[in-house]
Amino acid sequence: MIIILKKDAEKSQVDSLLNWLKARHITPNVSAGERETVIGCVGDVAKMDIGLVQALSVVERVQRIQEPYKAANRKFHPMDSVIDCSGVKIGGGNFQVIAGPCSVESIDQMIGIAKSVKASGATMLRGGAFKPRTSPYSFQGLGKQGLDILLEAKKETGLPIVTELMAIEHLPLFNDVDVIQIGARNMQNFDLLKEVGAMTKKPILLKRGMSATLQELLMSAEYIMASGNPNVMLCERGIRTFETATRNTIDLTVIPVLKRLSHLPIVIDPSHSTGYAHLVEPCAMGATAMGADALIIEVHNDPPHALCDGVQSQTPEVFDDTMKRVMAIRPHAWQAK
Ligand code: PEP
Ligand code: MN
Repeated sequence: MIIILKKDAEKSQVDSLLNWLKARHITPNVSAGERETVIGCVGDVAKMDIGLVQALSVVERVQRIQEPYKAANRKFHPMDSVIDCSGVKIGGGNFQVIAGPCSVESIDQMIGIAKSVKASGATMLRGGAFKPRTSPYSFQGLGKQGLDILLEAKKETGLPIVTELMAIEHLPLFNDVDVIQIGARNMQNFDLLKEVGAMTKKPILLKRGMSATLQELLMSAEYIMASGNPNVMLCERGIRTFETATRNTIDLTVIPVLKRLSHLPIVIDPSHSTGYAHLVEPCAMGATAMGADALIIEVHNDPPHALCDGVQSQTPEVFDDTMKRVMAIRPHAWQAK
């Protein structure tokens, strides 16, 4: 349920409305926009008498939200959410590019790549320390040692780091990580979602499952938000279709669709979405033109010898060129009217 307040609503009256809601075990979420102030209500509102709220002098109107996601719903929070990733902002007109290797392999590799992507204009660094691999015989990531290397690269370059959390017991190791990635394979690991919602306020980069609908993606965001962490970003990383020419099928329609449904920032991953390095640049440009709030791109200094996802990794030189082309498009990006 959302309550839209009158423009001239007095603070004291609004406060007493908030207290009235809290006394009924409803959590009010105030979103003060330019045009109107909205109170999103989370909790068991089914039994509430809407007429009672509607009758209050500060209330313009009351609306029930039909969609099963509430906190992630744009009706609940009309303004774009801006997620602060240790000083680097994503959403609400702030555009960022996150770059780095699929996996952390060594200190030299990580620091070398971090310096070069920073020089090209990337504002955040990615790298997997705990890797979700299809085969148990493939490289599983360096684990804690990988996180230590990422932190070294952060110290060296100042770039905030994004890395994947696969198991909640690893969360204490993530204290100095700036953004926690929940990978496609864990998008519906509901216990993990509830834990990252309850145990941390760090930004969460939530990747769309490879066969998840957008409603399922939003419901997964809702798990995190309803558990107490509002700092969620939605990431499209390609879905599985009948097409075999690409690793996955990039679904760029998610940008205008999700922007209408939700206030959360949208991050596009053209690397996992396509699976081939030569497809990353055109898709990064397309995603930028369509209004993505951020891109996350895999870059490796020696793709043929990468321990994971070399085929889709750009070299630092190619990434540099992609950055130039992306940044040239950015001022012309589509915006919702
Ligand atoms: C990754 O970012 O390296 C990764 C494994 O992503 P996804 O969960 O989208 O496959
Ligand atoms: Mn990867």
